[in-house]
Amino acid sequence: MREIVTLQCGQCKRRNYSTTKNRKRTTDKLQFKKFCRFCRAHTAHKEVK
Ligand SMILES: [Zn+2]
Repeated sequence: MREIVTLQCGQCKRRNYSTTKNRKRTTDKLQFKKFCRFCRAHTAHKEVK
């Protein structure tokens, strides 16, 4: 079972990305460095519900 999660920019709080994760394998909160076009920079994007 893979679950769709949304990734939110840590700076502007916009939801820029969505991805899937395996709940059984990944129990921690996901965090990725991704390019935010609103901040125009690479920022930490965190999983939100
Ligand atoms: Zn941003």
